[in-house]
Amino acid sequence: MELLFLGTGTSTGVPQIGCKCKVCNSSNPKDNRLRASVLISVDDTKILIDCGPDLRQQLLKHNIEELSAILLTHEHYDHVGGLDDVRPLGEAQIYAEKKVLNVIQRNMPYCFGDYKYPGVPLIKLNIIDENEFYIQNTIVQPIRIMHALLPILGFRIGDYAYLTDVKTISNESIEQLQNLDVLVINALRMNSHISHITLDEALEIAKKVGAKKTYFTHISHDLGLHDEIDKLLPENIFMAYDGLKI
Ligand SMILES: [Zn+2]
Ligand SMILES: [Zn+2]
Ligand SMILES: [Zn+2]
Repeated sequence: MELLFLGTGTSTGVPQIGCKCKVCNSSNPKDNRLRASVLISVDDTKILIDCGPDLRQQLLKHNIEELSAILLTHEHYDHVGGLDDVRPLGEAQIYAEKKVLNVIQRNMPYCFGDYKYPGVPLIKLNIIDENEFYIQNTIVQPIRIMHALLPILGFRIGDYAYLTDVKTISNESIEQLQNLDVLVINALRMNSHISHITLDEALEIAKKVGAKKTYFTHISHDLGLHDEIDKLLPENIFMAYDGLKI
């Protein structure tokens, strides 16, 4: 099983357009963050989690030419804005909650009409809820998390779990995340935010989950330089960066 970070940035990406801060100006490639997404490979099964507006360059960069499934955590643009770019991969199998799929149908009506243009993305919508489901032979366990007032999903696949845009998480969900090898969770910045956890809040959740290793993603330029923050983190907790494979 392998997890590849295609992007580890918050909704604006890093550098942020027009910003001259030390992170946006950094020459360290680890401070360049495309919008958050991961590819999880289990044998020949390739599962993309989230499909943001940087998808095209992410697929090109890593020579990704096929996907078994695309799982969507929620409907925000930084997580679904790249869906039109899956066209060259053939029919896309998208898995998300009904309310997320409704937004996609509304945003991309040309993919779902009775008379489609030749060449529109072929998209198959698969409705999921909090119950586990299969992608080929791989079991996926959705994990309920709250993005401020918006209920969204994270996913556990084997002993790996990917949670992004968490603001709060219930004890029941923490329970579903026991005995993990790898937890990936968002850590936006130091200061409090209405819909995302801070670095300290992420550390607290990481402690409760107690995965063997934890990686932070969905990072803002406000969090600071990759190398400086990574040094401050406890043993077994790391800053993720674009292109990291675990
Ligand atoms: Zn986001
Ligand atoms: Zn900046
Ligand atoms: Zn969001």
